Amino acid sequence: MLLVRSRSEVGLWSEHTRKAGRRIGLVPTMGSLHAGHTSLIDVARRSVDRIALSIFVNPLQFGPAEDYESYPRDLERDLDVAAAAGVDLVFAPPDVEMYPNGEPGVNVVPVGGVDRLCGRSRPGHFTGVLTVVAKLFGIVTPDVAVFGQKDYQQLVLIRRMATDLNFPVDVESGPIVREADGLAMSSRNRHLSATDRKRALRLSATLRSCAQLFAGGHRDPQDFVRELHRAGGAGVSVEYGEVVHPESLAPVDRVEEGAVCAVAAFVGDTRLIDNHVLGTDPGF
Ligand code: AMP
Repeated sequence: MLLVRSRSEVGLWSEHTRKAGRRIGLVPTMGSLHAGHTSLIDVARRSVDRIALSIFVNPLQFGPAEDYESYPRDLERDLDVAAAAGVDLVFAPPDVEMYPNGEPGVNVVPVGGVDRLCGRSRPGHFTGVLTVVAKLFGIVTPDVAVFGQKDYQQLVLIRRMATDLNFPVDVESGPIVREADGLAMSSRNRHLSATDRKRALRLSATLRSCAQLFAGGHRDPQDFVRELHRAGGAGVSVEYGEVVHPESLAPVDRVEEGAVCAVAAFVGDTRLIDNHVLGTDPGF
């Protein structure tokens, strides 16, 4: 496995790889790798021959009061995880390599689907995400890029960007990988105290209740929204609990199969998100 820090080295690797007739997959991450990330590597492997994994904690997507400084970073461990998962190239650029002139003069700004869910409380977040993903697409030139359904709004907006701006890349996705007790895997789970770790289970528990409501024939969105807000309580402050259309991300009037229940909450100081696409994964 190669570890490269510069855009030019990645460019050379991609050029050689493509000349050799190999298809390239890209899995963008912010590091602190876990089984959710490696599952995306497995998804990529189904349709490509070589896999690039990027590790970059993107300052552009963090608000001033957010956890950019304290975001977990552990490159040595990440390299071991990536090598064991069969990654061919890790691109771990320093900030100056991604933003040589400081903040970019041109950003990719989503014009729809950002006024709700995470976009409402994190102004500028998805501009930062889309801008860095567009840059990674330009640097790595992947045939396929894989993102997790865990960040559902992000996935929708990246798909939209690739379509609307004609990026020659197939955007694929992988399902949410959970701990045995249901907690969605996240790099931020490392910040949870033992007490908060237990409290965090309330997010996946309310989503499971929503799945049961749906299976039981409930179709009124208010029933689901009420259930999602039940995640709140001692040490857990719900930021949003919504049922939205899978593509427009607009709140639904009637809950149909494929609607997405999404929840965000602060558990102690740690902000966690989780979601469930109704009517999928009967074992959830
Ligand atoms: P991050 O490093 O948190 O920015 O995530 C990098 C990629 O991994 C994104 O596409 C995420 O949606 C995805 N991801 C994060 N956690 C999970 C999970 N538990 N299951 C599946 N994908 C995940």
